[in-house]
Amino acid sequence: MTDHTRVRGRSPVPDALLDPTTLGDLLRVASAPDYDRWADQIHRTGGCSDPIHLTGWTLAKDRTSGETLHHYSTASEPGGRLRLACGNRRASRCPACAWTYAGDTYRLIRAGLAGDDRRDIPAAVRDHPRVFTTLTAPSFGPVHNRPDRYSVTLGALRAARADFRAAQEREALGLEPPEPATVLVLTDWQYAGHGHTPGESALAATIARDIQTNRDTARQARADLQAEEGDDWT
Ligand SMILES: [Zn+2]
Repeated sequence: MTDHTRVRGRSPVPDALLDPTTLGDLLRVASAPDYDRWADQIHRTGGCSDPIHLTGWTLAKDRTSGETLHHYSTASEPGGRLRLACGNRRASRCPACAWTYAGDTYRLIRAGLAGDDRRDIPAAVRDHPRVFTTLTAPSFGPVHNRPDRYSVTLGALRAARADFRAAQEREALGLEPPEPATVLVLTDWQYAGHGHTPGESALAATIARDIQTNRDTARQARADLQAEEGDDWT
């Protein structure tokens, strides 16, 4: 440890922060006008140290009127990209994801993602099959194996597959056919890279640490409450 690792008697500063390149990059990221949104993205990944970057868009249209019901594009995101957790289970590769994707937590978060239509992202990333498994709800066989680009017809394929299955079930149960589907969803997503710049990496580590601290605090508070209320806690 050198003199530089302490700043006026405060806690030790990680060596990485003192590297001029890292520090310069960190300041660039932190002072950018879209920093808050970037930090929000990283927070959503749980502080992932090697996030997947996607570019693309989703468009939901009313089939009858042609009206646009929902439109999301990464064009307005920091760097034009959406960052998703790498999902690596090895703590040596990504401590945040190794924790997140272990056991019950993974299933809880996965359920949350599946229920959030704005996160309905077919993240088929060639080098990161776990992310793909995590974020893509329906199974599509051959479509999964397309190397690095999703056709705009994926949403239509998905809808057609779902309609077919639903029709089979209705037939088996002797039910009437439903109203025809009225919403057409088109999507196009591309893998755009992964990881952080040195400054982003330092900031992401801070976010991961904050998340861990909040988690620990919540766990402690819950334990305290349990102790106070005896065995009635459910
Ligand atoms: Zn990760």
